[in-house]
Amino acid sequence: MNFLEERIMKDGVVKEGNILKVDSFLNHQLDVELFDKMGAEWAKRFEGVEINKILTIEASGIGIACVAARHFNVPVVFAKKTQSVNLDGEMYTAEVESFTHKNKNQVIVSKKFLDENDKVLIIDDFLANGCALQGLISIINNANATVAGIGIAIEKGFQPGGQIIRNLGYKLESLAIVDGMDHVTGKIIFRD
Ligand code: 5GP
Repeated sequence: MNFLEERIMKDGVVKEGNILKVDSFLNHQLDVELFDKMGAEWAKRFEGVEINKILTIEASGIGIACVAARHFNVPVVFAKKTQSVNLDGEMYTAEVESFTHKNKNQVIVSKKFLDENDKVLIIDDFLANGCALQGLISIINNANATVAGIGIAIEKGFQPGGQIIRNLGYKLESLAIVDGMDHVTGKIIFRD
């Protein structure tokens, strides 16, 4: 069991509806030391891959991506979920269905921060059905930039996102893959 799997076993809570609650270290209270280890692990797994930018999505991806970026020495861009007066100029947008909130969001990245020279590592906290990732990938494609790879903290392997993304040919590195969980017993099964 790796360091993230151990932490999920210790502090993760299985909720009804296939939700894994990890708000004591990943989604609300943030364990920055843990994020640093995750960043180091992704840096190892993406060694030799050309990456000049990290792209994530607000809100939970931002902290993880920023700490990971210290291991890649690259800037972080995050896709915004709401239009704001601070968003000016031309923008890339994609529609993303939220697994946790069951609604649709437009995700937005300013054209200023993504272009055809960018080799982008996508970082996010969870991969479930893959909607968030597909939105980010479509924004990168619209910018004529390149998806260099995808780093996910927790993949729920019993949902289809991981397989869809791997079948599309992307290098996807999930630090913990949960293949099954039970909210009654609290049992969590990880992929080897
Ligand atoms: P997807 O778009 O792959 O279906 O879902 C990805 C997003 O949904 C993640 O960015 C995360 O915010 C949220 N998410 C999906 N499943 C879970 C879960 O089991 N627990 C938590 N905390 N968030 C989840």
